[in-house]
Amino acid sequence: MNFTTGRALIDPTRCIGCGECIEACTMKAIRRLPDGHSFVEPLWCAGCGSCIQLCARHAPGWAPTEAARSRPAPRPAPACGCGR
Ligand code: SF4
Ligand code: SF4
Repeated sequence: MNFTTGRALIDPTRCIGCGECIEACTMKAIRRLPDGHSFVEPLWCAGCGSCIQLCARHAPGWAPTEAARSRPAPRPAPACGCGR
C-alpha cells in the first residue's frame, strides 16, 4: 500500500467511532463526522495503511486513488452544532 496507488476509505456501517484511527494517523487525515463515524480525507491520506491494520472493526479499507478522490466529502458540521 502507498499513496500512489490508493487511499484508505472507511466503511461507516462498520465504524463505531472509537477514534483510535484518528489518534494513530500521523497525517491527521481522519476526522470525526457529526454522526460519530470517522472519515478519511483522501487528499491528506499518505496511504500508510496504519488505520487499516489497527481497526478491530475492519472499517477502513483500501480504495484506488481515483475512487477515493471521487467520493464526496461529507459536509462539515454547522457552527451551531445542531447536526444538520
Ligand atoms: S478505529 Fe475503526 S471503529 Fe474506531 S473510529 Fe477508526 S474506523 Fe471507526
Ligand atoms: S492510511 Fe495512514 S495516512 Fe491514510 S488515513 Fe490511514 S493512517 Fe492516515
